[in-house]
Amino acid sequence: MAAIFAFKCTCCGEIHEGSPSFAFRAPDQYTSLSDEQKSQMATLTEDFCTITHDEGTDRFIRAILEVPIHGAEEPFLWGVWVSLSEKSFTRYKETYHEPVVGEGYFGWVCNKISLYPYDQSRPSDVVVQPGRSRPKVVLHRGDPEDDPLVIDQVQGISVARAQELAERAQHAA
Ligand SMILES: [Zn+2]
Repeated sequence: MAAIFAFKCTCCGEIHEGSPSFAFRAPDQYTSLSDEQKSQMATLTEDFCTITHDEGTDRFIRAILEVPIHGAEEPFLWGVWVSLSEKSFTRYKETYHEPVVGEGYFGWVCNKISLYPYDQSRPSDVVVQPGRSRPKVVLHRGDPEDDPLVIDQVQGISVARAQELAERAQHAA
């Protein structure tokens, strides 16, 4: 039977309960701006971000990247930002309060997850969810499939690996 994920942390000795969830507050492109640039070029809310350069505007939305944990009810969650085309971004905004299940968009994942180093940008499908749930990120499978994050999302991870990743993410500087 599936169980609630919980473990005694080897870093801090406390019990961490519930499947791990780590969220980025903004896309990396926003985080790397100076405060002045942020106020002049960018907008950021809980679910939307835009950055306007001389060459045009980049548009981002917040989404959820799930990694299943074998035997646990809830997956390991990474709250990541994904860049969308202008058309997709506009459609997502228009349907934000009444999402159309079955819709999805192509998007690039715009956060580097330090536990999953990868040199390239990760292409994905962003799949709209019913109600107030954030859209889900389904990573494209590489060829060859050499990205450990893709492999973990496709195959799922053991409770031991989930615990190790959670400890490292929780206590990362
Ligand atoms: Zn801990």
